[in-house]
Amino acid sequence: MSSDGPAENGTKRVKAASSPYRMMSSEDQAKALDAVRGLLSLIGESPEREGLLRTPERVLESFLEMTAGYRDDPARILAGAVFEAAEAETVVIRNLQFHSLCEHHLLPFYGLAQVAYLPAGRIIGLSKVPRLVDCFARRLQVQERLTREIAEALQAGLEPQGVAVVLEAEHLCMAMRGVGKPGSRVITTSTTGVFRQDQGRRDELRLLLGRQG
Ligand SMILES: [Zn+2]
Repeated sequence: MSSDGPAENGTKRVKAASSPYRMMSSEDQAKALDAVRGLLSLIGESPEREGLLRTPERVLESFLEMTAGYRDDPARILAGAVFEAAEAETVVIRNLQFHSLCEHHLLPFYGLAQVAYLPAGRIIGLSKVPRLVDCFARRLQVQERLTREIAEALQAGLEPQGVAVVLEAEHLCMAMRGVGKPGSRVITTSTTGVFRQDQGRRDELRLLLGRQG
């Protein structure tokens, strides 16, 4: 996935040819634009006022970008990035930023992922781990499932002795609405193999991730 590059100063915005919105049929585009306009009308706005004229298109572009994980394949991310290695100590990739959308409110939740694994003769190219996290984060999610899907994909693709994934996130559906508790964090964990079964490895993990409990 490449970025669009700088295009701020042009009179006409340069669109990436691969923009999923641009690749929709004009019939689907029209349907989707109408749906967003309908929502705007429903809250009492006028989709025809100047500030909102291009909003439906922007909403669709960003919505498709935030859900790009549906068009990515975790097996393909890992393929070709797994290397034979004699290392047999735990590898920890810390503080990977992620952004996701809660499937109940379509509001963002975001935070940091910690990913650890204990190799069994093979290691993975480190740049693939954030891509794997994004592949699942950029879908409609609940945090618990997101955590488990990352752990299971890494376990399946790398077949290590064990995987541990810890996510800590703030949910805007908790901060902006409902119970209205900004600043609260949700922590979820998912473990496989030795990190589930072996108390010594669990203790080591707690030390590496620097948290109690
Ligand atoms: Zn929610």
